[in-house]
Amino acid sequence: MHRILSVALLLCAGVGLRAYAADQDQTKVVKINDSIYMVPTSGNVYMVTTPDGNVIIDTAASDLAAEAKTLLAAESRAPVKYIILTHGHADHIGGIPLWEQPGIQIIAQRNYVEFVNYVTRLEGFFAPRNAAAFNRPPKEVGPWAGNYGAKIDPTILFDQEYTFTLGGVEFQLFSTPGETPDHLTAWIPAYKAAFIGDNYAGIGIPEPMSFPNIYAIRGTKPRWALDWINSLDKVLALKPEVVLNGHGEPILGNQEINQRLTRYRDAIQYVHDAVVKGMNSGKDVFTLMQEIRLPPSFNLSESFGKVSWSVRGIYDGYAGWFDMNPSTMYELPPSSVYPDLVKAAGGPDPVVRLALEKLNAGKPVETLHLTDVVLAYDQKNSAALDARLKALNYLRERSQNYVEAGWLEYGITKTKEKLASQ
Ligand SMILES: [Zn+2]
Repeated sequence: MHRILSVALLLCAGVGLRAYAADQDQTKVVKINDSIYMVPTSGNVYMVTTPDGNVIIDTAASDLAAEAKTLLAAESRAPVKYIILTHGHADHIGGIPLWEQPGIQIIAQRNYVEFVNYVTRLEGFFAPRNAAAFNRPPKEVGPWAGNYGAKIDPTILFDQEYTFTLGGVEFQLFSTPGETPDHLTAWIPAYKAAFIGDNYAGIGIPEPMSFPNIYAIRGTKPRWALDWINSLDKVLALKPEVVLNGHGEPILGNQEINQRLTRYRDAIQYVHDAVVKGMNSGKDVFTLMQEIRLPPSFNLSESFGKVSWSVRGIYDGYAGWFDMNPSTMYELPPSSVYPDLVKAAGGPDPVVRLALEKLNAGKPVETLHLTDVVLAYDQKNSAALDARLKALNYLRERSQNYVEAGWLEYGITKTKEKLASQ
């Protein structure tokens, strides 16, 4: 039996979230009202029934899509006339081929095309990163498909708004960029229901909600904070009574929706504006990563998105990589002189000793940096690998963030492999 979010959670290796997932039975269809059905999976699949046929909103990841379809078909066997894609992430578009039939219309916001091309263009780059981030074997990558090689399924693309009516039910679609540039919100005025994709709940974090990933460290373009804020405002202006997320549970009641989405919007705005003010006052990105903290009054965790990563995402999104230091203009990174530093220190031992002192002083990140220095000199240095493993475990035990924990586990595995191959 599958469980809600099982895929997302495998990827994120989050113990707390796994426990949450285990409480959810994915095999049930959730009836939102007499016409809206939801299969909670990764990501959620919705079916809206009308007298003239059905509309599917998102199709889940390819390995979970068939089960979702079977469950929904048991509720209504009427023909599917439209598929609406809230965005082009794989866990929302994987099931498209299962639903395709002659005459079906598939709708996406126009940025979908470039988004899926971007993912395909860099497939070889993303494959090992996704495998590491999601703790799964790397996907087989074929020959490069070119810059514009993605399969484009949508038959209808729109820029700002698109409205259609099926069986007397009006569907209004709005461009609402946020987690991806192609995000759309599907709004059904008759039910006061807004399908907002992943612009609120991320991978389905339970309350208290987490701050979002303005930048996802597995590799994405920074997600444009001001667009995200405006998109949440657009959803709030609809005065929805039901918000249906790409992952996780619906939010019910306009008051609750207002409270949650406003808090989320304000948190993004707070971090964005703090970065901009810091940049304007001449602060560098690492200073701002250390300084900017979300006030506790927002009551948002950092279990999914980390504020410091978002600070860097916003900073780099605005300014790129150059930090005004002439040393960094050139193609030689600081690590190019690490072996020389080790030699100057009289060999690896004093540097490893320092690395362990840092760990004992509660500074595990400095330990990691120092082991990087030694391993650049001798990648098999077992004392350095051992110190590194201790620092990674120290950080893993204290991590409150699923994504960070996943990458630390990746680092632990790699370090253990190197130690075992001595
Ligand atoms: Zn998703």
